[in-house]
Amino acid sequence: MGFQRAKQKLTLILIRDPHQPVRRWRMTQQLAYGLILLTILCLFAIGFWQYSLHRNSSATIDSLSLQLVKIEKHYDTLLNEKQSVIDDLRTEMVHMNNETEQIRKQLDQLKQLEQEIGDLLSEVYPDRPGETAPDYFAGARTVSAVHYNGIGGEEHAVTDKQWEDEWRQTQQTVANIRHEINQLSDKLKETKELLLKKIEQIRAYPDHWPTRSLTITSGYGVRIDPFTGRSAFHYGIDIAGKIGDPVIAAADGVVIETGRDSQKGNYVVIEHLEGIRTVYMHLSRIIAEKNQQVEKGETIAYLGSTGRSTGPHLHFEIIDNRRHVNPMHYLNTGHSHNRR
Ligand SMILES: [Zn+2]
Repeated sequence: MGFQRAKQKLTLILIRDPHQPVRRWRMTQQLAYGLILLTILCLFAIGFWQYSLHRNSSATIDSLSLQLVKIEKHYDTLLNEKQSVIDDLRTEMVHMNNETEQIRKQLDQLKQLEQEIGDLLSEVYPDRPGETAPDYFAGARTVSAVHYNGIGGEEHAVTDKQWEDEWRQTQQTVANIRHEINQLSDKLKETKELLLKKIEQIRAYPDHWPTRSLTITSGYGVRIDPFTGRSAFHYGIDIAGKIGDPVIAAADGVVIETGRDSQKGNYVVIEHLEGIRTVYMHLSRIIAEKNQQVEKGETIAYLGSTGRSTGPHLHFEIIDNRRHVNPMHYLNTGHSHNRR
């Protein structure tokens, strides 16, 4: 390609291939310069465009980088906060583990106490079902390295796996404790039932001294009858007293009979648990009514001298399954402070 100067005109020659014809364009000098100027302008324009494009790109990249840094900072902060929350939770977990251990110890003490109560109950209540030895400290476990309290030695960071194991162990311990509490609760209910039954039996056992005076004028067994002067069997005990002294129920029970008889005078019969009855005779006045539930120590009548009696006294009998027994084998003479 080249320019030829002729008559103020320029010829543009384009030589391509040796076998192809040469191309020529003739143009005025002005047009040629114009074209060159245009080309230069175009090149400038392209350069400027490229430059501004580059500048814009740089600015965009800078801005994006800045945003990226901001986002990274934000995430760093979030990450730090999250880590701090995780650390707090882990510290809480360590405290919770210690708490769990304390609760377990207290539970074991409660179980021990229940066992002791059960043993005491067994002493007075031999029918109590056999006890299997409680599995104390069954759920006890060695606390892992997570527990710092009072432990020396090297400090190692706790791995995520160790945290997981710790958490699983805590969950297991809590589940065990819940199970043991339920068992203990059932056992305590059973113990309470047995205790109530025992209390009922104790309350129904006729051992309460039946009046104020402790003076026995005639014992149980063979004696000389004061009316006939001949030997006779005395089915109860005679206790001296003043007319109007309270006559007291020897045990919890139901009044099954009240009445007046030429021999017994005014009398009361109380039925207690397990086929035991108590009989009170020669009363001046009866307070309790038939079918009335009475409590041990309750005043049911007043001492008198009605019926076949030589003077004011209480004739007291105990009948155990239709058989008279010596009341002195049942009565507790040391209970005078309970008498009304
Ligand atoms: Zn008598």
